[in-house]
Amino acid sequence: MKGRVFSIEEFSTFDGPGIRMSIFLKGCPLSCSWCHNPEGQRFEEEYMRSPNGCLNCGACEKVGEIKNGRLQLTEKSISVCPRSLVRKCSDDYTAEELVEKIMKNGAILNATGGGVTFSGGEPLAQYKFVLECFELLEGKLNRAVQTCGFCSEEVFAKVLEKTDYFLYDLKVLDEEKHKRYCGVSNELIKKNYETLVKSGKPFVTRIPLIPGVTDTDENLEAIAKFISELGVKYVEVLPYNKLAGSKYATVLRDYTPDFDDKKEINLGKEIFDRYQVVSKKM
Ligand code: SF4
Ligand code: SF4
Repeated sequence: MKGRVFSIEEFSTFDGPGIRMSIFLKGCPLSCSWCHNPEGQRFEEEYMRSPNGCLNCGACEKVGEIKNGRLQLTEKSISVCPRSLVRKCSDDYTAEELVEKIMKNGAILNATGGGVTFSGGEPLAQYKFVLECFELLEGKLNRAVQTCGFCSEEVFAKVLEKTDYFLYDLKVLDEEKHKRYCGVSNELIKKNYETLVKSGKPFVTRIPLIPGVTDTDENLEAIAKFISELGVKYVEVLPYNKLAGSKYATVLRDYTPDFDDKKEINLGKEIFDRYQVVSKKM
């Protein structure tokens, strides 16, 4: 079996304890309108172009194809670009190949108390590949996943068993609003979060603060109540990245957030304080 990877960050200080190698798996079942990795959302192979040095000659688009209702670059776009700015978004690896690559940095990562973090996209959407990698890494390196928690309870239980650390995103607690902004129900996300907390595995809860969507007093209060009732005492809040839309043009897509991305962000500190949850701005 092969896993599809759209990016690898060799030394990250943001994706869990210590220094970590972050593996970004392509494909996500959600469709958050603030997603800053458009090339990581779809499972199929895609091509992207760099804007740096682009002549705007349009040659790459002329050999593009309409897929999923929009123009996309193709393999031919690579060869026609006079500046070599077009590339495939992802590479496919077997678990053995990827683990070998990861373990080249194993000694450094271990020395910092770090490890490897499988992120995305949504890593659990390729859970069989993640499990295969984690089995090969057992006893060698700390294994983390950064997840939105959207998968069946059976899949989550399997991944829980083989994972040493979780970075778990909570976005919107209201189910209808979650469907509207992320494209799916949050029922499984809440269930899997409860399973994680009760399991005793180390984890951190992360909340992206999206103006007028996830950062409302109502949503943050609902999250604070939900997690504090489960005994969670710490969250990390991630203010909206104003550069979120910068990569959309590279895959010929428009960035059309359905919220006011200029609005000031509410960190909700007093709300978390009220529920005796420590909130750290990242
Ligand atoms: S990416 Fe290359 S082919 Fe496409 S418009 Fe720019 S220079 Fe032309
Ligand atoms: S869950 Fe993450 S990767 Fe998936 S669409 Fe939302 S922001 Fe993008």
